[in-house]
Amino acid sequence: MKSKIFVDRRSFVKKTSIGVGAAAIGLSLFPDFAFASQTGKKKLGVALVGLGNYAGGQLAPALLQTKNCYLAGIVTGTKSKEAEWMTKYNIPKKNVYNYDNFDDIKKNKDIDIVYVVLPNSMHAEYTIRAAKAGKHVLCEKPMALSVDDCQRMIDACKTANVKLSVGYRLNYEPHNQKIKELARTKEFGKIKYVRSEFGFRIGDPTQWRLKKAMAGGGAVMDVGVYCIQACRMATGEEPISISAQEFKTDPVKFSDVDETVAWQMEFPSGALSNSTTSYNFSTNEYLICTENGKYGVGPAFGYGKIAGFIKDKPMGFPIVNHQATQMDAFSKNVMTDTEPIVTGDLGLRDMKIVEALYKSLASGGKRVKV
Ligand code: NDP
Repeated sequence: MKSKIFVDRRSFVKKTSIGVGAAAIGLSLFPDFAFASQTGKKKLGVALVGLGNYAGGQLAPALLQTKNCYLAGIVTGTKSKEAEWMTKYNIPKKNVYNYDNFDDIKKNKDIDIVYVVLPNSMHAEYTIRAAKAGKHVLCEKPMALSVDDCQRMIDACKTANVKLSVGYRLNYEPHNQKIKELARTKEFGKIKYVRSEFGFRIGDPTQWRLKKAMAGGGAVMDVGVYCIQACRMATGEEPISISAQEFKTDPVKFSDVDETVAWQMEFPSGALSNSTTSYNFSTNEYLICTENGKYGVGPAFGYGKIAGFIKDKPMGFPIVNHQATQMDAFSKNVMTDTEPIVTGDLGLRDMKIVEALYKSLASGGKRVKV
């Protein structure tokens, strides 16, 4: 799948000391336009798979703002969406697929990136099929329903020599990036404690999010993963243990999946975290306590306004379009053959924590090693 230019660049960079130096400080010797002109494309074509709320409400509009990619194709199982999307986003009929003929996308040179925006249980299958079709893959969170599936997705992309990333858009957002920087610099001393919370009141009781077979779990799988990400960004570490507790106020609606879960994690440095996720109430923030003061983000995880503070001052970063920034960054990774900041491995590590969390719940809250 890799074009000759990618291979040539890699061997050139390897052979030159200037290449090594530039790579070490994160500079590209090859600006995007150089690749764009040599691959014949200024913008990469993205095909969205699964035209639901997130694809229609966020990703497609964001693809009208992106600099490095555009909405080139769609994959849908709903016939009526085809004409609607073709008209709205100027998509030619030849770039419209359904779930049966999806593998034919292999022959379509307009499509460089497949973005999987399907229910969680379908992420692994469509990521692997996209990789086999030779397309780079962006897959929505949670990456899959199990660590094993995440590994199969990573392996399939590696074998096909295509890039893989997960839709953890906050990694591209300035307030969250500042938190990561503070974890690296330890400007305020050791990180002692992180509290992260993300929940909302879920509606329609018939939706796939409340079916374990399709969602893999409840609030934990859907929005709890943001709390896990927040703890990782805030500490710069992977947890070594987890203890979890579940609370259910509506055992009928949440008969198949978790409603509200709280959990605590321990990190190698001694830092502790306490997180809560829920399908029963709204909360959306995280806080970091260090040796020398506090900082945090809230609202932290939504698409709209994000705000943060460091000690008594607001962070004051601009509001960015998370989805456009994320898709532009991934397209640039493809164009310049660089590793995305959100890798498949990051998605897999989250699933390891989620599996340990559910193990702790099943054991009545015992401390489980991650
Ligand atoms: P929706 O239910 O709104 O959309 C899912 C789409 O998948 C459907 O519209 C349908 O599209 C397709 N689909 C195919 N088979 C099925 C099936 N059996 N049941 C239901 N839908 C099916 O979900 P969302 O758009 O809210 O979520 C999709 C994914 O995106 C999830 O993994 C979710 O976690 C993730 N997400 C990520 C967000 C983020 O901020 N990163 C935010 C919201 C969601 P079609 O009719 O075209 O076939």
